[in-house]
Amino acid sequence: MTRDRIGFTTGIVHADRLAGVEHGGVHQAIHTSAQFGFERVEDLIGVFQGTVKGSFNYARQGTPTTAALEAKITQLEQGCDTVCFATGMGALAAVFLTLLKAGDHLVSSRFVFGNTTSLFGTLRDLGIEITLVDPSSVGAVAAVVRPNTRMVFVETIANPGTQIPDLPGIGALCRQAGLLYVVDNTVTSPALFVPRRVGASLVVNSLSKTLGGHGAALGGAVTDTGEFDWQDYPNIFRNYRRGDPAYWGLQQIRKKALRDMGASLSSEQAHQISLGTETLALRVNRSSATALELARFLRSHPATSAVHYPGLEEHPQFDLAREWFGAGSWLLSFDLRDVHALTGVIDALRIPIKATGLGDTRTLIIPVAPTIFWEAGPEVRRDMDIADGMIRISVGLEESSDLLQDFEQALRLA
Ligand SMILES: *Cc1c(COP(=O)(O)O)cnc(C)c1O
Repeated sequence: MTRDRIGFTTGIVHADRLAGVEHGGVHQAIHTSAQFGFERVEDLIGVFQGTVKGSFNYARQGTPTTAALEAKITQLEQGCDTVCFATGMGALAAVFLTLLKAGDHLVSSRFVFGNTTSLFGTLRDLGIEITLVDPSSVGAVAAVVRPNTRMVFVETIANPGTQIPDLPGIGALCRQAGLLYVVDNTVTSPALFVPRRVGASLVVNSLSKTLGGHGAALGGAVTDTGEFDWQDYPNIFRNYRRGDPAYWGLQQIRKKALRDMGASLSSEQAHQISLGTETLALRVNRSSATALELARFLRSHPATSAVHYPGLEEHPQFDLAREWFGAGSWLLSFDLRDVHALTGVIDALRIPIKATGLGDTRTLIIPVAPTIFWEAGPEVRRDMDIADGMIRISVGLEESSDLLQDFEQALRLA
């Protein structure tokens, strides 16, 4: 079976057995060994010198269980290799800290995950220059590129406002300018979008969200799409300019971030996430369909002043979302007209869980300004179009009729 001839879910549910499994198990085993021994010392020496490939040494740098998950994500993202981390933030920190250095310039969407914005503060203190732009127009990105620009970073669908960058336009710009194009695919996931198709160089996924999908495990991943020529990238250390250039970038990320910084994914968590990926497309299709119904209901309700959802015709990037994602995803947000009703409405809901997470089997809800964007302050909130009455919903797998009824009764309080 080759991956271009089989469907997404066919591929994922059979992926574990492709590399061979012990005792005919249908899943990869959970390998909890912290170290791995060798029959011959030459092999141990070879692992350190990079001449023996595919062997495990010390679990900080991977186990057979994390490697099986990496292979699965590589397949989903149609890439050439993946490195997993303990969390999505671990994966993002790895990309920025191992591929950028003082004096480099990073162009990023200004609509990014709150903790990523906070991480940018750390990068600035380390001497990395960062310019934030509205990436819905490629012109805004092109206008700020300078000789020391190394990387462009965007998220596919921004949380909580659901802004979408000009993903193909930025891909073309990066290719022409020789820039690394890093796409955080967490909200769309490879079930809706494969960033390699728009020329992304690296894809980051938080596995804690829809990929794992059950709110039961944390993880993150960086996938190399094979689209970028690492021979042109000035920040690859001499030690990692060895072997096939296609692997230089992830080789450096694996050594400098996973080995030296140690945000390693455990085998138990990798197994949980791996099970979750088997139903990824089923869950994303179901929750996206419900999210569209809910978005349409909220739009027509007099208590709301705006609904942010890429599946609605009035969304500024509706056409792009339809062409590239085929759906609007499970993430939506809306603004209550009356800010004073914010807590009353949310407390009146019986089904959604009041929680900060995303991409769960259960619907999760949170008021944005007083929680996840509280620390950012009013100026950042204004820049990111976050209204005081904004409510974010991560739609789960409940029957849509139950959710609609619940919102209908709760919004009577607004
Ligand atoms: C949650 C999230 C992250 C961080 O992932 P964790 O696994 O929680 O560390 C990064 N990017 C986006 C878009 C996210 O939603």
